[in-house]
Amino acid sequence: MKPLILIVEDEDAIAQTLTYALTTDGFETKHVRMLADARATVRAAQPSLIVLDVSLPDGSGFDLCRELRAGAHANTKIPILMLTARSEEVDRIVGLELGADDYVAKPFSPREVSLRVKTILRRSGSAGTKSANVFQLDTEAQRISFAGQPLALAKREYLLLKTLLERPSRICSREMLLDTVWGMDAESGDRTVDTHIKTLRAKLKAIRSDLDPIETHRGMGYSIDIKFVA
Ligand code: CA
Repeated sequence: MKPLILIVEDEDAIAQTLTYALTTDGFETKHVRMLADARATVRAAQPSLIVLDVSLPDGSGFDLCRELRAGAHANTKIPILMLTARSEEVDRIVGLELGADDYVAKPFSPREVSLRVKTILRRSGSAGTKSANVFQLDTEAQRISFAGQPLALAKREYLLLKTLLERPSRICSREMLLDTVWGMDAESGDRTVDTHIKTLRAKLKAIRSDLDPIETHRGMGYSIDIKFVA
């Protein structure tokens, strides 16, 4: 069954190019011009994702976004890709705050939209579930598995990864990591953390080269993307 993408857009020319790009990429699409029709479609057809324009004849796309996330409709988790006007940075921020999954600014290339749709579905859908719980932390045995394979970790590497895994999506500063993992033994500085992160990354990459769960935050520290843990 092809995933159904609901396009909510009052400009027919834009809707047509989107419909073309999405159907070419193997999606089924439904186009509506009004929020009222979008609500009806969400109730009746259970779309896999909504491409949602902000400015619509009978209201704002934000309203639908807010309603969905607040649980006003049965499926509150439908991913939403907002279409915003390029000049309106505020639209992007409001949209993401209301729970939209991503946004594209007009004018956009339909290919770009289709790529974003695929990425969001991969993240939120079946593939997303597969990459969830990629790590298995066994604190008793002091072992961590990655993608089903036990990692051969030195003590500090284990402690470092454990510290990150216990704080999914939170940025751990080098100071905090040094303190937690090395404590009184911290004979060296920030470079120690960086070197160990590098080794960890190489060990993870050796198992799954397509996944990169450790994120670097320049000048701030490291984190594990929540989708690998939650
Ligand atoms: Ca519009």
